[in-house]
Amino acid sequence: MVQAFKYALDPNATQEAALRSHCGASRAAYNWAIGWVTASWWQRKAEASYGIPEGELTPWRPWSLPALRKEFNQAKKTNHFADWWEENSKEAYNTGLANAAAAFDNYAKSKNGRRKGARMGMPRFKSKHKARLACRFTTGTIRVDVDGRHVTLPRLGTIRTHESTTKLQRRVAGGTARILSATVRHERGRWFVSFQVETRREITRVARPGVAVGVDLGVKVLAVMADSAGEIRYAPNPKHYETALKTLKRLSRRVSRRQGPAVHDPITGKTTRREPSNRWRKANEQRNRIHHRTANLRADALHKLTASIRDEYGTVVVEDLNVAGMLKNRRLARKIADAGFGEIRRQLTYKGQRNACRTVVASRWYPSSKTCSSCKTAKAKLPLHVRVFSCDNCGLVMDRDENAARNLADLASAGMTGTGVAGDRGTQVTKPRGADHKTRATRSSRKAGTGRAGGAIPQQRTETRDRQQDTEALTLW
Ligand SMILES: [Zn+2]
Repeated sequence: MVQAFKYALDPNATQEAALRSHCGASRAAYNWAIGWVTASWWQRKAEASYGIPEGELTPWRPWSLPALRKEFNQAKKTNHFADWWEENSKEAYNTGLANAAAAFDNYAKSKNGRRKGARMGMPRFKSKHKARLACRFTTGTIRVDVDGRHVTLPRLGTIRTHESTTKLQRRVAGGTARILSATVRHERGRWFVSFQVETRREITRVARPGVAVGVDLGVKVLAVMADSAGEIRYAPNPKHYETALKTLKRLSRRVSRRQGPAVHDPITGKTTRREPSNRWRKANEQRNRIHHRTANLRADALHKLTASIRDEYGTVVVEDLNVAGMLKNRRLARKIADAGFGEIRRQLTYKGQRNACRTVVASRWYPSSKTCSSCKTAKAKLPLHVRVFSCDNCGLVMDRDENAARNLADLASAGMTGTGVAGDRGTQVTKPRGADHKTRATRSSRKAGTGRAGGAIPQQRTETRDRQQDTEALTLW
């Protein structure tokens, strides 16, 4: 399976400059590609407006990665890249070109209706001030050093890591892991390296393989877990962001009182940039530190929760929540984002695959809250503020979330024993895990960069999507 190992870096000043240079180079190559391809679009549009016939218009420029790479290698010697392109690894430019190829591809697919999700806009230039710093290496010397405290990357050399890399280093040395690529990224004021690693893992046995658990996610209580053995557990919502909010408000006030990077003129309505003051920088840094701490606390809590669930149960049933839609609800958005619903489901799924266990995703339309977990009678309505479920049919009175979790847990057994129709077990979801895995990404296939979708970053995305699709989606309602 393909797994990520992420480490915080402690680069020295020279290395930090080199890291920034590489990420900047990646952005510059991206912007070059956007400009080069779209120039032909504008040209065609202008020509068409003069009445030039379709056949005589300037031809479209290709945006496949190989085509972009070929063109870039010609262009870099003459244009503004000429003075400095040799300072960075070619992988930096390749990252930018691959991202641009993916962006055009997504745009085209979205336009033809071949892409799910919201409509994609035309690829745009990345701003120096806003773009995230990232660069990916797929070839060259990518290594975790023997001392367990350094990593070596092409051109950047050996960089000290903030934490020990022994775990990965031992695996690589022992032949149970192979590094496919490394991505350096600047996140929340710190540099990270993330290795994409192909690993062979021993499947760990869960404590109760025969037991299924239904996980109902909520805001008041982060998760209610009801298992098929009848036990119920509550995972309280740590609400890290809510807790930090008071401090954040105070610090944000302090930031806004100081001279920041943007000046807004209320008369002309224009915003211009200026150098922020040192006092602003200091205050901003303090505020960011709280944001980082909150994010780290949340990540830690979520990992602990999902790991504890997956270490115990053989089957996990989760709801297919429309998180993107829920985030549009102004009143709930902050709380839902803080709880990390989408992330919980993602983690439960991939951690289940590691243990070769089942994850069942209940249909988005399955009324887990409105159904009685005892007699299975569904209510027509159950407003959100009603926290206690009481059945009109059998008289069951139960906490709303507990009732929902029990219903979810029951779905698992419905899936395991069939739907009651004789001979339909073959249609069941109990196919061996991993039978249709598409996650194995070999280096050669990536390097070949087949066609437009051959970009480095987009492949990573597809892998995640495949993994999610791999979850057995049960539509029992
Ligand atoms: Zn009932």
